[in-house]
Amino acid sequence: MRGLVRVHRVETCSLVNGPGRRFVIWFQGCPLSCRGCFNQEARSFEKGELMRLEELGDRIFAADVHGVTLTGGEPFLQAEEATALLRECGRRGLDRLVYTGFHFKDLKRNILPGSREMLRKIDLLLDGPYREGNPPDGEWTGSGNQKVIPLSRAGMVMKRIRRTEYVEREYIISGDGETVLTGI
Ligand code: SF4
Repeated sequence: MRGLVRVHRVETCSLVNGPGRRFVIWFQGCPLSCRGCFNQEARSFEKGELMRLEELGDRIFAADVHGVTLTGGEPFLQAEEATALLRECGRRGLDRLVYTGFHFKDLKRNILPGSREMLRKIDLLLDGPYREGNPPDGEWTGSGNQKVIPLSRAGMVMKRIRRTEYVEREYIISGDGETVLTGI
C-alpha cells in the first residue's frame, strides 16, 4: 500500500466502536456541520497528521483485533486511500466497519469520487449525519436517523452482535496525558 492519509487519531484496541476488539481510525476532515457534532476537532481539513498507509497497515496488522473501524471526520473524503486499507484488511481476515455522515444511496451514486468502489470493501456501513435530540435505536449508531447497513455476509453477522453490556464508553489517555472519551 502506498500513499498518505490525513488522520485525526488512532486507537489500537477499542470495544465501543463496533462489535469485538477493533482498531479504530478517526479520519481528519469533514464538510458537514451536524449540530452537536461529537468530534469537532476532526472536522478541520488542516489539522491532524499525515500518515503513510503502509505504516498504518503495519500498526493494524500488529494489533490483536477482530476488525477495523473507520470513522471521523469523514472517511469517504479519502476514499482511494481508505479503499486500499480496507482491501488489505479484508485480505488478512479483519472485518470492516465504516461510519459516514453521507447517505448510502448517494455514496452508491458516487457522489464523492471513489465512494462506490469503497463501498465494495465494507462489511458494515453506518450512514447518515448525526442528529442531536434524536436518540439512537440501534447498537452502534449515534442518533435515530442513522442506519446500520450490512454490505457482506460478515456484515450481516456483525449487525446482530450486541454491544458489550458492561462497556459503553472508553477513556483514551494519550502519552502526553490528554484524555478523550469515545463510544457513541
Ligand atoms: S458527520 Fe460526524 S464529524 Fe462530520 S459534522 Fe457530523 S458528527 Fe461531526
